[in-house]
Amino acid sequence: MNMLPKPESRTESRYDILFEPIKIGPVTAPNRFYQVPHASGMTNALPRIRAKFRETKAEGGWGVICTGACSIDLSSDDAPLPMATMWDDNDIKAHAMMTDAVHRHGALAGVELWHGGASVMNRQTRVAPLSPSGIPWMATHVGFMGNLRPKTMDKQDIRDVLRWQAEGARKARIAGFDIVYVYAGMGYLGYEFLLPEYNHRIDEYGGSLENRVRFVREMIEVTKDAVGKDCGVALRVSLEELRAKAGRNQASEAHELIELLSDIPDLFDVKMDSSPTDCSPSRFTGEGSHEPVIDFVKKLTKKPVVGVGRFTSPDAMVSQIKRGVLDIIGGARPSIADPFLPNKIRENRIEEIRECIGCNICISSWHDGVPVRCTQNPTVGEEWRRGWHPENPGKAGVAERVLVIGGGPAGLEAALTLGRRGHHVTLADKGTAFGGRLTFEKTLPGLSAWNRVVDYRLGRLREMTNVEMYLESDLGVDEIIDLAPDHVLVATGARWTKFLYSSMEIPVGKLAHERVFTPDDIAAGRMPEGPTLVFDFDNYYMGGVITEHLASKGVPVTYVTPAGQASAWTIMTNELPLIARALTSRNVAVRTLEMVSAFDGETVTLANIFTGQKTELQCRNVVISGLRLPRAELFEAMNARRADLEAAGIKSFELVGDALAPGALAHAVHSGHRAAQELGLGPQPFRRDAPIVEFEPSYWSDRGNA
Ligand code: ADP
Ligand code: SF4
Repeated sequence: MNMLPKPESRTESRYDILFEPIKIGPVTAPNRFYQVPHASGMTNALPRIRAKFRETKAEGGWGVICTGACSIDLSSDDAPLPMATMWDDNDIKAHAMMTDAVHRHGALAGVELWHGGASVMNRQTRVAPLSPSGIPWMATHVGFMGNLRPKTMDKQDIRDVLRWQAEGARKARIAGFDIVYVYAGMGYLGYEFLLPEYNHRIDEYGGSLENRVRFVREMIEVTKDAVGKDCGVALRVSLEELRAKAGRNQASEAHELIELLSDIPDLFDVKMDSSPTDCSPSRFTGEGSHEPVIDFVKKLTKKPVVGVGRFTSPDAMVSQIKRGVLDIIGGARPSIADPFLPNKIRENRIEEIRECIGCNICISSWHDGVPVRCTQNPTVGEEWRRGWHPENPGKAGVAERVLVIGGGPAGLEAALTLGRRGHHVTLADKGTAFGGRLTFEKTLPGLSAWNRVVDYRLGRLREMTNVEMYLESDLGVDEIIDLAPDHVLVATGARWTKFLYSSMEIPVGKLAHERVFTPDDIAAGRMPEGPTLVFDFDNYYMGGVITEHLASKGVPVTYVTPAGQASAWTIMTNELPLIARALTSRNVAVRTLEMVSAFDGETVTLANIFTGQKTELQCRNVVISGLRLPRAELFEAMNARRADLEAAGIKSFELVGDALAPGALAHAVHSGHRAAQELGLGPQPFRRDAPIVEFEPSYWSDRGNA
């Protein structure tokens, strides 16, 4: 009898290595998928939201789940930016909720104990910030600026921090953590000791690298003494600056640092130094961008090494391991965009991975001080609050016929979620391709990865037998009545306008001239000819990227904004410095703090927003990237014929996405998801979290003794 060959399973061959257990000191991670510490915007005051958010990733197969920065003392207070604390018994309880949740799925829980050193302003606690030599960390981001300079630590301060770290570690163990961090990166206290620019000490903690490493070494040692029998002790260290410094015996100081500490921690978690390089946007950086800085670490230590690089491709992950770059695949953004990434790889469902698009909306949430939001994963932060699950929206009580009009991000997400809920879905779009605004935006410089929003959803929709999709279907009210669905979602998007504002707050009508363009004109192929001025008061990506697009086509462009910098809001997404660099490299003149007040086809008049001083520039065209308004004509026509729709059996119709409230892609996707979850039910409960107060509020008579 002929035996059929066993079908090759990629999980059993190529990717098996990703599912090997890894020892981290006294504990063992079940696989090589490691959710590195990352900000979630969820403080100890939101313990249930946080626990469910982290638990969902453990459920999805991540072998280790870490907290974000967790303060060990009052002198490390980042308020009003969200941070966790490990200060008292209530904190232990709040964290235990997360570790219990993570353990339920067989994952390990890690805590990133943290002292911010000179980078925190202690706005809430009013304690002096600490630093090796009184050198402040001077922020360029307004969200981090402060006017309190740090104290120079004396020997007692050093002993205190070591004691707080040990006490924090003991509390962490009681809270159920398996891995405890020492943090020496991203401008924080340990990092400040490592860098000679911050560390001017003349005692045994300053000078030679051996001396500058001493504080970090002692932090690891006290942590090991406190919990090393039960917990893995990890060192998180930024290596970008140190790698750029020549070493005495090795290629760089980064090499020497790893050599000096090679046997001491149980795990090295290696990274870059600043948020824009560590968490770089896809617009300017690809997958695996840390490798040139961290590729040497494994050669100098036998301890496991974890690192990140916005890894979403299992082949790239395997390559990192096989080439000896990393032992463990770290993920922050990929784990937010797809909490089930490991399980999908294990189950050979690679095409179902919801790949992070690298837009950094997640980071903007932290800057905004709210729980994390994600463009690709609308359920993030909503796992407990709204009861949403990233893979399973739950089955609807009754399967109904739903017409979704508009196949942009909102319509695609709505159709996908409705389909998963078991409804019979018809998705119609008047265009020749699905994707809405992204059909154009994906062609703009650096934005191709953003189309993963469309690719992921279209791929899944095409597999569903209860979803029908139609292009070139410009639906009006009569067609909708003929189709007579039970429900209609109107996801017809928004359009850019030619409105101007005075001093950016009061609308003052449209700029009327035939050579005034909007991004929609450019999307439609109407290109300006000759010198062009882009006026941007939207402040997110569009003005800057349209400028890049025009410049790349040879159009001479001047960029003008009433804000202080080009694409000013992108300071929230780490893109701002890179956009400035891109505009400079394309020879774009950038003018700030000015607004357009007149244009006659030859001359544009600009006014300084503070002084009103006028400047005239010669240009043939003006492109306005400013106000977007909903494309809601169809919805309004439906409203006008409500009785006819009801007579046809249509029970509800509503706006979603940009047609409801124009916003970022993340808003459109969330709106589409919510409409699908709540179809026919109306607004569902929004649960409010509350801090744990099981114990009496504690006093800090002797800091560290709560
Ligand atoms: P969102 O971000 O909210 O998804 P987009 O602007 O990206 O919005 O997408 C809106 C989509 O709706 C576009 O693809 C557009 O072609 C489509 N659309 C707009 N009006 C109609 C209509 N009357 N019938 C069918 N499709 C429409
Ligand atoms: Fe990735 Fe954007 Fe989601 Fe962040 S918000 S995880 S960058 S897709």
